[in-house]
Amino acid sequence: MKTLGLIGGMSWESTAIYYRLINEATRARLGGLHSARLLMWSFDFAPIAKHQMADAWDELATVMVDAARRLEGAGADALLICTNTMHRLFEKVQVAVAIPVLHIADVTAAAMAKKGCRRPIVLATRFTMEQRFYTGRLLDRHGIEAIVPDEAGRSLVHDIIYRELCQGIVQPQSKQAYLAEIARLSRLGADSVVLGCTEIGMLIGQQDLDLPLFDTTQIHADAAVAYALGG
Ligand code: GLU
Repeated sequence: MKTLGLIGGMSWESTAIYYRLINEATRARLGGLHSARLLMWSFDFAPIAKHQMADAWDELATVMVDAARRLEGAGADALLICTNTMHRLFEKVQVAVAIPVLHIADVTAAAMAKKGCRRPIVLATRFTMEQRFYTGRLLDRHGIEAIVPDEAGRSLVHDIIYRELCQGIVQPQSKQAYLAEIARLSRLGADSVVLGCTEIGMLIGQQDLDLPLFDTTQIHADAAVAYALGG
């Protein structure tokens, strides 16, 4: 079994979900008392979020590279950046280490391809919805055309992530607001929904939707276990 290094704490609410999902999938594959070989670097999220809001991506690259190197030095065979947003720094992290970093958008695209989905609604932080590092990668590498909310919708989705979900607050009115946004965007020809932020699965799931749902946390965790256990 390979050792996975998790760069987490962004927020820890979703890193805790990764931890559980990776261990559950490992037990499902190997049975009995088996669990995953994991290393974790868990950031204090407050300064990270502050730097995100200040567009201080160079400073964030420095701490992400430092975390990646620590995990590599401690014996990780592959790394996971346990947040979609921080994939903005994927290339900088990948070139800094000799081990693979499993890209969350690539494994999500692979899961979508299996179901023939190409036009998803992508709900995520403002950074992920507005900057090209994520939707651009989906399009350029995978031919997936992301549909994102308008300005008011992006603001709503983003604020619920930082003010509620990353702080462990799950509210029925926020769930309704997300579902209303999905219903509105689905009229634009969407064929699926991507939870492009690792906390959104705390709020909505496949049972709430008619369209196929792709939860990046679940998909990333499953891909990591497949890597660790060899396919
Ligand atoms: N976990 C979130 C994501 O998947 C948002 C928090 C962050 O900015 O990292 O994008």
